[in-house]
Amino acid sequence: MSFNALLVTKDEDGKTSAAVTELTEDRLPEGDVTVAVSHSTLNYKDGLCVGPGGGLVRNYPHVPGVDFAGTVERSDHPGYKPGDKVVLTGWRVGEAHWGGYAQKARVKGDWLVPLPEGMTARQAMAVGTAGFTAMLAVNALEDHGLAPGDGPVLVTGAAGGVGSVATALLAALGYEVAAVTGRPETEAYLRDLGAGRIIPRADLAETVKRPLESETWAGCVDAVGGAMLARVLGQMKYGASVAAVGLAGGAQLPATVIPFLLRGVNLLGIDSVMQPYDSRVRAWSRIAELMPMDKLEAMIQPATLSDLPDLGAAILKGGVKGRVVVDVN
Ligand code: NDP
Repeated sequence: MSFNALLVTKDEDGKTSAAVTELTEDRLPEGDVTVAVSHSTLNYKDGLCVGPGGGLVRNYPHVPGVDFAGTVERSDHPGYKPGDKVVLTGWRVGEAHWGGYAQKARVKGDWLVPLPEGMTARQAMAVGTAGFTAMLAVNALEDHGLAPGDGPVLVTGAAGGVGSVATALLAALGYEVAAVTGRPETEAYLRDLGAGRIIPRADLAETVKRPLESETWAGCVDAVGGAMLARVLGQMKYGASVAAVGLAGGAQLPATVIPFLLRGVNLLGIDSVMQPYDSRVRAWSRIAELMPMDKLEAMIQPATLSDLPDLGAAILKGGVKGRVVVDVN
């Protein structure tokens, strides 16, 4: 009962190295469901866990991979039986618990969701945590009153994973999308995903000078944080919401409280890792319903387990384009 995994080991000097290694099932961690993994993907966190660890991995040897999709092989969980197709994101799998960079994974059944109807495991991993989080952000904005026709919705870090999927989902829902990017060469890509306007990153890069600017955006999915989020808060329409997803531009928020007090602006926090089951299922079924699969296909960069050490290093340097989908077999 052996299988291949990308195993990360740490030597006496604290240096990590990752290699495809044959393991036996008795090495798998505790859990009530064993999954035959077919696909995984690559996130920034995976880059850290394949490489230096970034404080995320506590015990070595370790199998990274924060997302996976596959078929249940064995289950002691009432919700799953052998043959069921499942998806996993979050719950610190791939960080604190062995993850999806392997042909087998063993996890708590409570962490899984059924693969959404009409989606393949490969497509689910093209969405991955990045796309799932984008959907959570759009759901949060709509739960706080956003509706098509309210005006333009801003997406920051638009050419990244979260931003690309947010752009495509918002456009599919009929929103007018304004995409902020620092990479002018991605304009055609973003327009193809459904962005109606491209905003150069430099336009929003300066720190706040006036706490209120003209009321421009009906909503915002923000993957960048930092000075850009602070600027955006002052440009929101009265009562509008910003979904704070990421910190690609920094974790500080050099803002004033004026937009909250004088315009009733809402700042909504989005966490994908500990999201409850019902909200996960709602997000995945909405993704399956809304995501234009041809656009998703265009984002895919295929990879294998042995490509991951190089790809992991590349993503930490911002050198990965599109969505990496790992076929672990
Ligand atoms: P990517 O690296 O794919 O995308 C981030 C994008 O942000 C880049 O493509 C770039 O977009 C833009 N960007 C990068 N650096 C800067 C900068 N210094 N200033 C302004 N913009 C910048 O990452 P993801 O899309 O996967 O993730 C985005 C963020 O969301 C990350 O911080 C990630 O940690 C976080 N995240 C949070 C989750 C949660 O649960 N809350 C889940 C998943 C991700 P462009 O080239 O278009 O300018």
